[in-house]
Amino acid sequence: MPAFQQSRVPIEELTKEERRRRFDHILFPYTKEEAVAEAQRCLQCAMPYCVQACPITQDCKGYIAQVAKGDFDGAARVTLLGNPLATVLCKSCYHYCEEDCVKKDRGEPIAIRHLKRASLEFGNSSLAYVPMPSRGEKVAVVGGGPAGLMATWELCLRGYSVTLYEEKPFLGGQMETIPKYHLDGDELATDLARFRNFDLKIITGMKAGVDFKPEELLKQGYLAVYLALGASAPGRIKVPGEELPGVFHALPFLLAANKNPESFLGRRNRTTVVIGGGDVAMDAARSCVRFFPGYKTTVLYRRGREDMPATSEESEGSDIEGVEFRWWRAPVRILGTDHVEGVEVQRTELGPPDEKGRRKVITIPGTEEIIPCDTVIIAAGQVADLEGLPAELDLKTPRGWPEGKGEGWATGVEGIFASGNKSIVFAMSAGTKAAEAIDAYIAKKLGREPIPRPDPFGAPEPAQIYPEGYGEPSWVL
Ligand SMILES: Cc1cc2nc3c(=O)[nH]c(=O)nc-3n(C[C@H](O)[C@H](O)[C@H](O)COP(=O)(O)OP(=O)(O)OC[C@H]3O[C@@H](n4cnc5c(N)ncnc54)[C@H](O)[C@@H]3O)c2cc1C
Ligand code: SF4
Ligand code: SF4
Repeated sequence: MPAFQQSRVPIEELTKEERRRRFDHILFPYTKEEAVAEAQRCLQCAMPYCVQACPITQDCKGYIAQVAKGDFDGAARVTLLGNPLATVLCKSCYHYCEEDCVKKDRGEPIAIRHLKRASLEFGNSSLAYVPMPSRGEKVAVVGGGPAGLMATWELCLRGYSVTLYEEKPFLGGQMETIPKYHLDGDELATDLARFRNFDLKIITGMKAGVDFKPEELLKQGYLAVYLALGASAPGRIKVPGEELPGVFHALPFLLAANKNPESFLGRRNRTTVVIGGGDVAMDAARSCVRFFPGYKTTVLYRRGREDMPATSEESEGSDIEGVEFRWWRAPVRILGTDHVEGVEVQRTELGPPDEKGRRKVITIPGTEEIIPCDTVIIAAGQVADLEGLPAELDLKTPRGWPEGKGEGWATGVEGIFASGNKSIVFAMSAGTKAAEAIDAYIAKKLGREPIPRPDPFGAPEPAQIYPEGYGEPSWVL
């Protein structure tokens, strides 16, 4: 397909009916021929805005060039060079790159995420990363989500000996709650298999602050500690009835939906109200559509459709699958005695501007109505769980996840760093920056220069983190 072609090579999807019944991945992969044709639409821009928009500066321009030539092994290698969670991201990334692709100006952006998938599915993607020889210098990473995993990759490549602590019995963090229609297989295990040559010890089922003290690790020979704890506790809406049987918070609901789906197939739990307007609310609603076919799933949001923070991919997916929306509604109480029977809501509108000029949502008295249901899922954001962690860390949590206030997210305790972020690829970027800060901290302490990221596959030259033509990033962490 010539480069001037403005329409994307179509990506086949499950039909609406199939989507309502099945948790299978919605998008079918490209064939080799389709992938090559889509890649040939790319202009190979001298200034690759796609790369600048990617929080990990993935060289997507580079792997697209390889796919365009039909060299899928080459494409897989380029993909994996800067992206250790590529198998996960090729199906679940919010593809910030595509927003900035120049082809979008006059047509459809290149299907950058889907071409990543083609490069890994058709190319040799079982390569193992090649770390620098381990010097035995110990660093502890706490939290096995994308931020912690990315920092682990960065540090192990540089020859550090990493111990990764995780509270849950499995790694992945919030990625483990992503429904199967986005991540339907062993994507994370596939990615982690490439870590097999690292000097890495994984300890699960250990909660920092409760089962061990992160500050004690520094006395046990660890040179630094990275807390990548995410926002793993569910936010509450604090209305009467929130504790009733039949009320779930989205995070534990979606985790159970993935790990133990049978538990939701009982006689009750069918007609559902989901409270919230973000991606997690959409994931909860779209999961309910699949669990309880034929029963109504309603999303309740206190602002209008255009204000919903959910990505268009998620909100349009919800529309297609038959989720109903009630905008400009706020929950007043959840009704029921021994089980949920409905949600009482009030209409909302925008009130006068506050001192920052922002118009807050206010409820309108006398507009109460009841939405009958037997299940309520609350997707009101997530908050950090700081149980048992010392106040000296002086963490801030304005965006949910805990962060250190210092340079490179250094916390109030010397040698301990903390960060996270809002999506997988942004959390990975945070993991990279934290690993660089940790490396610089240790280098200074040991009287040597920081170690640039080595080539992940063992080539003698350091990795080229910013591909040719890269300018200023179009994102901030
Ligand atoms: C339902 C859902 C769907 C999503 N879908 C997408 C998507 O499609 N695409 C996308 O890009 N992003 C998605 N996200 C967002 C993305 O998953 C998160 O932004 C990302 O996982 C955050 O990474 P993190 O490493 O900062 O934190 P987390 O992923 O939360 O990882 C933190 C880890 O630390 C562990 N931990 C916490 N406290 C302790 C402690 N005291 N001791 C030991 N371990 C601890 C936790 O158990 C967890 O494993 C989704 C999130 C949810 C909830
Ligand atoms: S990781 Fe995400 S943002 Fe980066 S190139 Fe891939 S799809 Fe785009
Ligand atoms: S911005 Fe779009 S057209 Fe340009 S290199 Fe990136 S993917 Fe290709």
